[in-house]
Amino acid sequence: MQKTFRTLVLAFIFLSGCVGDESITKMDVEMFNSNGDSLGTVKLTEEPEGVGLKVTLEGLPSGELGIHVHEFPNCEAPEFKTSGNHFNPDNVDHGLMHPDGAHAGDLPNLIVDSGKVDVELVGPQLTLKKGQKGSLFSQKGTSLIITSQRDDGMTQPSGDSGERIACGKITEEEAERKDKNVIEPEEE
Ligand SMILES: [Zn+2]
Repeated sequence: MQKTFRTLVLAFIFLSGCVGDESITKMDVEMFNSNGDSLGTVKLTEEPEGVGLKVTLEGLPSGELGIHVHEFPNCEAPEFKTSGNHFNPDNVDHGLMHPDGAHAGDLPNLIVDSGKVDVELVGPQLTLKKGQKGSLFSQKGTSLIITSQRDDGMTQPSGDSGERIACGKITEEEAERKDKNVIEPEEE
């Protein structure tokens, strides 16, 4: 009897320990194209220098493509307009090369070869910590968008980066979702 009680107490401590820890330090964002096809995931990780983004995708058009964090957690295909503008909590100009930039959501271009990309990026103004400036969970979350052209790093408001062709939601719901299509990186 006493042993059962002790087991229950231990189980309670264990469970409450899990529930009490609300901060997300990493998550996978599944990306979908305008047809609703899954392209793989972008793995977000809280790092000392910002948020790391491990982009492992396939089924993209080859070439140099823009990738940005957008302000709303909406991915309505086919145009993904409801994701809003680039995530820009500081209300500054667009562009990693702009003297009055850049948006927190501005990221280096992706180089896609044979439809595939496997690269790590860093968003130095981003964090996964809730309630902090640059939090990807500001409001109800944000989204990650890939565009059909490269971002020139300078042109307002979005680097002349073409159409929005893929989207993934950065939300707590997405962080908890298990059934994602993860593309394994190829051996180098
Ligand atoms: Zn921007």
